[in-house]
Amino acid sequence: MTSEQQKLPASFELRRRDERIRQRRLETQCVHAGERHDPIHARPSTTPIYLATTFTYPHTQELDDVLASRAPGYVYARYASPTTNALEQALATLEDADAALACSSGMAAVHLAVVGSQVRAGDVVLCAADIYGTTYALVNNLLPRLGLQTITADFTRLDELEKLIRSKHPRLLIFEVLTNPLLKVIDAPAVVEMAHRYGARTIIDSTFTTPMTIQPMGFGADFVVHSLTKFLAGHGDVLAGAVLCRAPDFEQMYITSYQLGCSLDPHAAYLALRGLKTFPLRFERQCANAMELALFLEGHPAVARVHYPGLASHPHHALARRLFRNNLFGAVLSFEIKDGDATKVFAFMERLRVILPATTLGDVQSTILYPAHSSHAALTEEERVRAGISSALVRLSAGIEHVEDLKEDLDQALRGL
Ligand code: PLP
Repeated sequence: MTSEQQKLPASFELRRRDERIRQRRLETQCVHAGERHDPIHARPSTTPIYLATTFTYPHTQELDDVLASRAPGYVYARYASPTTNALEQALATLEDADAALACSSGMAAVHLAVVGSQVRAGDVVLCAADIYGTTYALVNNLLPRLGLQTITADFTRLDELEKLIRSKHPRLLIFEVLTNPLLKVIDAPAVVEMAHRYGARTIIDSTFTTPMTIQPMGFGADFVVHSLTKFLAGHGDVLAGAVLCRAPDFEQMYITSYQLGCSLDPHAAYLALRGLKTFPLRFERQCANAMELALFLEGHPAVARVHYPGLASHPHHALARRLFRNNLFGAVLSFEIKDGDATKVFAFMERLRVILPATTLGDVQSTILYPAHSSHAALTEEERVRAGISSALVRLSAGIEHVEDLKEDLDQALRGL
């Protein structure tokens, strides 16, 4: 009995020899056999990972329409790719932006937002002094080499900021809502309103705040940036970023994105999209843990000071209450160990058994970092002290572990000093 005559299970069809290529030679078969070009009717319940870099069409006219931007579609993955587009649609929805462009890292997103905002040589860029170190370096080291003038300012002092904007006429402002590592809160709606009054545009890096806490598009931010590497993806296994923008800015942002070549790899996009599905659950738990740890550390005899905007003792607590949704004050806090210096802080970090010493934040696991030797290592001792980053300061990103285990871990490490 031949296999043709036999009654075969239906799934045989999915695995059988590819008749379309059977008569070709082995070398050709290796390249073409088995490729699935036809859409299947059953829809997968999650977005598949499309690793294809190139897409083909049955009619050349269709390809031409996509190439000429007359029709949406896929041609070459640096321009658009289905898995990455799925992530972009999700992000634009969460931030209530018109569109999103996923990038190969948070820094690629910052870079794209700056270049895509259409600043040009001679323009002034005003950057918050309290900003992620690599963003600070990009603005203050790279942009001046390209002919932009850059200035930095304390964005918590609105009166002084306004004077500076009035006198320097910046075209672009860049800042974060929650600063790192002291968790100062910037009155972002007031800054955006002020920038627009003087004809400047704004990029807000909302990595620390996330759309669970604040949606900057809602109060007029021009561009929002995320390091998806942190809370939104959340599992410490993918490096990714995104720029959110409005429809009139999309074309420039899109062109800049494929010219810079910073688009996100589909595999990474898949991981970020998967992380996003549990982001609200994780973030609520992380913020609740951070709040409880902040209260615990505030009462601990080995701790001199705690910085967390959810604490009534934080100078920007009232502003945080006004700006932040869902009573979420973020999942990052910092604290100063009593009489702490590098040696003492290192001993403390090495005694931790649950919390990981690691240069990141936003992961499901709690992580701790010494800003003086990591995020702010480039500053001189004097600059660091002026910025409020003492040698006793530790930054903690709360994970989703049971909070009692985190408290016990901190307590045993602090008591052992
Ligand atoms: N923005 C903020 C606030 C960050 O903390 C970081 C990284 O720590 C970045 C941007 C850069 O993100 P990435 O490491 O994904 O490039």
